[in-house]
Amino acid sequence: MSVTSDKRDFYDVLGLTREASPGEVKKAYRRRAHKYHPDRNQNDPDSERKFKEAAEAYEVLADPAKRQRYDQFGHAGLSGAGVHDFHSSSVEDIFSMFGDIFGGGGGGSRRRSRGADLQTQVEVSLLDVANGADRSIEFSRRDLCDDCSGTGAARGSEQKKCQTCAGYGQVEQSGGLGGLFGRVITTCPTCNGRCTVITTPCPACRGDGRTAKHRVVSVQIPAGIHDGQAVRVRGEGEPSEDGMSRGDLHCYVHVSKHPFLERHNNDLLCRMPISFTQASLGANVEVPTLSGKAELKIPGGTQHGQLFRLRSLGVPDLRSGRTGDELVQVMIEIPKKLSKDQKTLLREFAETEDKSVMPESKGFFDKVMEYIQGNGVE
Ligand SMILES: [Zn+2]
Ligand SMILES: [Zn+2]
Repeated sequence: MSVTSDKRDFYDVLGLTREASPGEVKKAYRRRAHKYHPDRNQNDPDSERKFKEAAEAYEVLADPAKRQRYDQFGHAGLSGAGVHDFHSSSVEDIFSMFGDIFGGGGGGSRRRSRGADLQTQVEVSLLDVANGADRSIEFSRRDLCDDCSGTGAARGSEQKKCQTCAGYGQVEQSGGLGGLFGRVITTCPTCNGRCTVITTPCPACRGDGRTAKHRVVSVQIPAGIHDGQAVRVRGEGEPSEDGMSRGDLHCYVHVSKHPFLERHNNDLLCRMPISFTQASLGANVEVPTLSGKAELKIPGGTQHGQLFRLRSLGVPDLRSGRTGDELVQVMIEIPKKLSKDQKTLLREFAETEDKSVMPESKGFFDKVMEYIQGNGVE
């Protein structure tokens, strides 16, 4: 699930306005699928991605229910809505899925032997990333109709041999996209490759063989997973045409923001404000960690931006399991308001300061002087 928010707007992908009619959606997709078909763009490695992106946008905008969810809630609204994962599908699969809009068999020359993959999103916390988590995921998918076991025929009714393909399930015809693909063998449009036609359609699915089903699966989120990565659940996608094999479900992980901790590889970074007196004199401070808090000793003379390392308080590596560290970066805060007494004390302090003996300052001013003299500036 490249499910995450870096996804492009579907209307932008197809070059449409939000008011586009179903006919315009279809036309725009057909044009793009044609333009970006990888067979015609062998020098453009990006074309396959664009082709799949267009298919994904079309699937949502061509379906009134999905389009409404998308218009209202954006990409997040489609989580669990039975949206296909085109990024893991082959170009052939996409062609056969939308074959009807390309005219005839649509250039999809093979019957799909495996069901389509689906995608959904799952939100986890940083603590879940550290420990791993079990999540139950709800989604809907087009599934085999219970009444007819996916055949589309009413129980006890007869199925006749398809006349269009003479029971072979395939026909030869001029390719889709206006003959672009030449003459090709395609799935029979009358029987959809089933070789038989239904005399009395199943009333539950109106002869489709498929109905929308709500499904709940349990997904194990491995410790160390990164935002935007997907967990594949095998066999939880849609059934194939013959109902014999299923695609997979890809659960794209979105890691929610932590109020104090930011992940950098397997380390966690905490930006910790401290006062200039704590930095000057040293202090013991409490810092937030994933599981609660830890004590950190800040030595006197600590500088703004300095990093301290708390070993093994990060997150585990997805592969090796080795745990990262927590890095605490101190941010020295200069008081915006001082009381009269504090001002008096600071003025007294300032009088004791001799800029020429502060080692950091000396080094800096020496360098400035060398620079000025070296450049002949007076
Ligand atoms: Zn049925
Ligand atoms: Zn047929």
